[in-house]
This record gives sequence, C-alpha cells and structure tokens, in this order.
Amino acid sequence: MITIKHLSKQFVNPDGSIFKVLKDVNCDIQRGEVISIIGPSGTGKSTFLRALNLLDPPTGGEIIFDGENILAKGYPLNKMRQKMGMVFQSFNLFEHLSILDNVTYAPMKLRGTARAEAEAEAMTLLRKVGMGEKAGAMPSDLSGGQKQRVAIARCLAMHPEVILFDEPTSALDPTMVGEVLSVMRQLASEGMTMLIVTHEMKFARDVSTRIFFMNEGIIYEDGTPQQIFENPVHSATKQFVQRIHKLVFEVDGADYDMLGIHTQMAAFCNKYNIAAKREAADKIVDFMTGSVMASRYPYTLRLTYSEMSEIVALDFMKEGVQQSFIGEVKDSLRPLCQEIVEEPTTRGFRVKCIL
Ligand code: ADP
Ligand code: MG
Repeated sequence: MITIKHLSKQFVNPDGSIFKVLKDVNCDIQRGEVISIIGPSGTGKSTFLRALNLLDPPTGGEIIFDGENILAKGYPLNKMRQKMGMVFQSFNLFEHLSILDNVTYAPMKLRGTARAEAEAEAMTLLRKVGMGEKAGAMPSDLSGGQKQRVAIARCLAMHPEVILFDEPTSALDPTMVGEVLSVMRQLASEGMTMLIVTHEMKFARDVSTRIFFMNEGIIYEDGTPQQIFENPVHSATKQFVQRIHKLVFEVDGADYDMLGIHTQMAAFCNKYNIAAKREAADKIVDFMTGSVMASRYPYTLRLTYSEMSEIVALDFMKEGVQQSFIGEVKDSLRPLCQEIVEEPTTRGFRVKCIL
C-alpha cells in the first residue's frame, strides 16, 4: 500500500547549519497492517508522520502510495489527504463548531457530500466511538478522552485508507487513556491500516502487527511485537523496550565526590520509586569503594533500573581487565545483595550486584 524509500527531512538552523531529523527511512506498509512506532523522544517519529502526509514535506526520498508517487509535481494534495487521515495528540477539533459539525465539515466541504447524508453518517460514526449523545455539544463541553474519540470519528468520516496517529493518548488524563485505546483497538480489528506513534507499550504489543523502533532518525529495528519486545537485535532497542534507566559515574580517583554519588543515587531511587533499594545500594558502594575499588581507578560505577524486569543493579566496570576483581571480598559482598554476576564486557570486566 505504501512504500517509503530513503525518506529524509532536514531543517536549517538559524545559524545556517543543517539538522537532519530523518536520515534514511525505508519501509513497506501493507493494507490492514497496524504498525506502532516507538522510540525515545526527539528521534523524528512525529516528523516522520508529518512528512508522510506532507504536512511537513520531506526533503528527500520517495513515498509511493497506492502505486503513485505522492511527491511528484502535480500530485493532488487533497486526494492524498482524504486517503490518509491523521489524529493528533492535541485533538485539533474546531472549537467554534458543534461535535456534529466537526464531523460533517470535511465531507461536505472536500467531498461535496450533501448535509443530510453527511449528518446521518456522522451520527453513525459518533455512535461507533460512543459519542452519539454528545452530537449537539461543543468541544469545550467534552473531556480530553471524549474529544479524542470525536477526532477519530471526524477522521473516519473521510473514509481514509490509512490513519496516522501521533501519540493520541499522551495529552490525556490517565483515566481516559483506555477509552481512546479501545476505539483504536476496534478499528484495528476491523482491518483499518494504522500507523501509531505511541508510548503505550502494552497496547503496542497487543494490537500491532509490526513495530518500528525509531532511533536517531531511522527505523532502527523493525519486527513483530514479539521480536521487538522479547528478542530485540540491537542494544538500543533492548534498553528502550525494557525501560532501563541508568545513573553513571566515572570514578577517576580517591578525590571523587562520594557524597555526591550517594545524593544522586537517593534522587534516582526516589524518582523511580525504588527507595527500598537505596540502603543496599549505599552499603555496597561504601563497601566496594572502601575495598577492592580503592586501588582500581579509573572505573565506572553504574546504577540501573529496568521497569520491565524490575531489576535494580549496581555495576562496577573496569576497562582493560579480563578477570573478576572481587575474589578477595566476594564473601563479604554476598550478604549485601541478592546476586553477584561476574562477566566480561566488550572492553573489560563487570561485577554486577543485583539489589
Ligand atoms: P519525536 O516525535 O520522535 O519526539 P520529532 O519528530 O518531534 O521527534 O522531532 C525530532 C527532532 O526534530 C527534534 O529535535 C525537533 O526539535 C526537531 N524538529 C522538529 N520539527 C522541527 C522544525 N520545524 N524545525 C526545526 N527542528 C525541528
Ligand atoms: Mg512526537
């Protein structure tokens, strides 16, 4: 249905330098696919969707949609916009129009649909998203979740072949996320082709036929939900899907600010609700820095927390070393943590204390 080749988008900074947001995006999208696009913020996910429907045209590459190059000169923008609907984080309803008029506006204006017919269909669509009762209300009378459901009905009124969603639930109060996701789930089960930028990992995993992990302006990894969430090939993908948070210190000598380490570890534990691990982390740092690590500068100390596995670990890493360095203190370290993992890394050796 859609083939994207070498898509790029660059912006010119005020100082004249060039900032490449999309570097080289390539993919094929089949009819009926539900693709979730995940990845860290600032990696070009929104820019990709906006380039795709030409809200912000790409600076290079090709987009073939239903066999036609939509970047070709003279390709009718309106035709493409009708086939490709978009749902935004911020709803973008017409605030001065009633809910019904929001849904009938584009079909009447762009498709030339007669009012009676447009209204009948709008009512069907509003009922479908659970908003039939609110047809006469104004957008300002609605909650965020209700507005987003209306925005989806408005999009469906144009009979799109594909719908692009850009973080449709991120502006919502958590209690309203579910109602919007359930409308999207229903559309997916009806065979609608959808591209969804989302941070809702469980939803992405359940509903998608494929996942694109975007990172640094490219589709870094592309696979089934099972591949991406359970067996990612790249470490950046793994870190993202397992939601691994890190606090890293490069300890280069005895004068290092050890009190600073404890303060930052406390803030990290509070931030991720793992305060129960703080005492163990403090004890291990004190023990290790006062014993085996004291003669091993420089080394890296790292506290990690994986939201997915709920594992909190303290790593002591030394470059250029092939063997473990805790032999003499291992027995004293053992009671301070749940498990000790000693393993080589690409550049040295790591002792991981699982808290
Ligand atoms: P994401 O949706 O993955 O969080 P975006 O696509 O919004 O990322 O943005 C990617 C990068 O492109 C960001 O660094 C952003 O500042 C930059 N960017 C987006 N739009 C513009 C623009 N119109 N002008 C300059 N830079 C932009
Ligand atoms: Mg975005």
